[in-house]
Amino acid sequence: MTGGLARGEPAVDAVVVGAGLAGLTAARELEAAGASVLVIEANDRVGGRMMTQYVGGVPVEMGGQWVGPGQKRINALARELGVEIFPTEVPGRTVFHEDGRRSEYEEDGEVPFRDPGASAEVGEAFHALSELARGVSAGTPWASERALEWDGQTLETWKLGHTQSKGARFYFDLAVESLYACEPRDVSLLGVLSDVAASGGFGGLFEIEASAEEHRLVGGAQELAVRMARGLRGRVVLSTPVRRISHDGDGALVESDAGSVRAGAVVVAVPATLRGRIEYVPALPPVHDGLSQRMPMGAVIKCHAVYDAPFWRDMGLNGRAESDTGPCKVTCDNSFPGEDAGVLTGFILGSDARRWGQSPAGERKRAVLECFARFFGREALHPRGYAECDWGKEPYARGGYAGVPVPGFLLDHGPALREPVGRVHWAGTETAARWNGYMDGAVESGHRAAREVLPAGGAGYHPRTTPDDRDLSRGRPRAGATGTGG
Ligand SMILES: Cc1cc2nc3c(=O)[nH]c(=O)nc-3n(C[C@H](O)[C@H](O)[C@H](O)COP(=O)(O)OP(=O)(O)OC[C@H]3O[C@@H](n4cnc5c(N)ncnc54)[C@H](O)[C@@H]3O)c2cc1C
Repeated sequence: MTGGLARGEPAVDAVVVGAGLAGLTAARELEAAGASVLVIEANDRVGGRMMTQYVGGVPVEMGGQWVGPGQKRINALARELGVEIFPTEVPGRTVFHEDGRRSEYEEDGEVPFRDPGASAEVGEAFHALSELARGVSAGTPWASERALEWDGQTLETWKLGHTQSKGARFYFDLAVESLYACEPRDVSLLGVLSDVAASGGFGGLFEIEASAEEHRLVGGAQELAVRMARGLRGRVVLSTPVRRISHDGDGALVESDAGSVRAGAVVVAVPATLRGRIEYVPALPPVHDGLSQRMPMGAVIKCHAVYDAPFWRDMGLNGRAESDTGPCKVTCDNSFPGEDAGVLTGFILGSDARRWGQSPAGERKRAVLECFARFFGREALHPRGYAECDWGKEPYARGGYAGVPVPGFLLDHGPALREPVGRVHWAGTETAARWNGYMDGAVESGHRAAREVLPAGGAGYHPRTTPDDRDLSRGRPRAGATGTGG
């Protein structure tokens, strides 16, 4: 294709598709280097899979919320933006529910399985995964010596070979569902080992202290995106899904329902599977198109009940529950410090999310509150506010927490995750070498994509196109375009 992209339309140096953490990180870095940038976002808010809403008068986190001490990039970004973090841990006992029997255990105590051997079995299985992960290079797992063997099986297959008791298998499943929002049968062993390698241990991912869940962000995680977008001084267009990207040696043309923009480069910062819902001219090479077909999103409904006070704390409970019976098999105390109200959050995950997502909202709410009451007593039946988000119903996420590497995906398509196609570059947490699936990975990917677009070294951007966004048709950046949604 020649000529068609060189004329007429308004032009910027780079268009970023998606105002999630990855896209906004890329846009900030490009702009800081002197490039003219336009961020085009489908939703009427920034933040993507980070969404903070007010329920019963207090903020609740519908999407990403926890950060850990090992996640250097997200912590640095929060510091830079002046968003403080606070510790997540609530002292008290955890509720454990197995085979209809409710028990409690201290934070540093043994999980009270019915089968006393189950605890050691789970510990050994987590340890064995951490040991295997030593043979995997985080970021390029497809290059591992045993990649073929490990990407040829699901985590379920591995689990069945390394655990025996019902209790151990239930707890293993619970850990995997909590981490991936899918069942062990849905995810490649190599994918899991790669994440373990990138984060320093399977058990550490699941526990709160010294893990990916140690801290939260004051004001909610979406605040990071809101502040970044504000800093981009209105160069963020909302409610504008990108439909088509054409590119050739002269540049790229990004088309949406609101009009077209010409760009020297495009950074597509959307979940890997959503890449495929945009049309590309010329069509993406098969390995890239196949990539978007083979990294499905996990399934999660995040449910919040807001109470006048965190009443479970008076019972010596920390708000955490682990259960073999849903709909919410995992809960946590998600109250914000400084608020009188108490927030209990429950996760409906994987198959449960797909099933419960089809129930009428009232029925689902009743089942969630009954679940909370089983764990924390009848007071849980009467919240002053309730809200939930089924991420599978979010048109520009289509699931969560993130894309899941199914068997064979990393071997065949992994190398294409970050590989640019002509003028088109890829960002998004799914492309990260470390902490992929997490907010930290999204930030990493945004930095990497910006560096790809910038000339070598990044210093002093040399525009290939004329910065001119005066006539963006209906896609014109609008006043207040960066406000929070919800
Ligand atoms: C329920 C839930 C809980 C989570 N918990 C945690 C947690 O505790 N800690 C953690 O670190 N991570 C967590 N995550 C994951 C974390 O939220 C994500 O990894 C991160 O926010 C992804 O950022 P991103 O920029 O890569 O993608 P996104 O946030 O998905 O951003 C992509 C953006 O692109 C937009 N878009 C899509 N298609 C188009 C299009 N065609 N045109 C224009 N725009 C488009 C979307 O609207 C979106 O704004 C959680 C996620 C969910 C859903």
